[in-house]
This record gives sequence, C-alpha cells and structure tokens, in this order.
Amino acid sequence: MSTRRQEIENLLKQTDVPLTAQEIRERLKLESNSIVNEDLEHIARSVRIEGRELLIKPASCAKCGYTFTSRSSAKKPSKCPKCKSEWIIEPRFIIEPRG
Ligand SMILES: [Zn+2]
Repeated sequence: MSTRRQEIENLLKQTDVPLTAQEIRERLKLESNSIVNEDLEHIARSVRIEGRELLIKPASCAKCGYTFTSRSSAKKPSKCPKCKSEWIIEPRFIIEPRG
C-alpha cells in the first residue's frame, strides 16, 4: 500500500500537464485542499533528494494577468492585490527531473 503522499507524488510524476490542488484532491478522492497543500510541501523536499523538482506554476489573476509571487504560491490567493479581482487562476503543480 502506498501512502497518500506517495500517491500525490506519483500522480504529479505521471501527469503530462500541471495539476491544481483541486484536481489532485478530486483524482485521489481526498478530503480537503489543505491536505494536498500540506503534502506538497513535504513532497517538494523529498523529490529534491531524487534529483527531481516540484515545479509550481504560480497563481495568477485572470483579469489583469498579475502573477502571484512564490511566497504564497502553494495556496490559492483569494484576491488580486493589483485590481482586487477574485477571479484567480489556481497554482498548478508537476514533478519534473531537475535540469
Ligand atoms: Zn488582477
């Protein structure tokens, strides 16, 4: 049996396109996005040892295109600091070999 964290890790290694926390949650039938976000922090460290990297496509504002910084990248921000829009494109995750 693989642990939940391993399942998330495998999913992000196998996927062709980066996935949002929401998509990860739905595919693995997990309870909440916060579980996924917590696991992703651990996964980011563990894959580095294998010579891979958890890549984060940062969240961005769908209205003005503002890209959120890596500081808050793992979680979905609620509002754009630039135009105050709440139409936010979620951050996406994928594991790739470090190059
Ligand atoms: Zn904006």
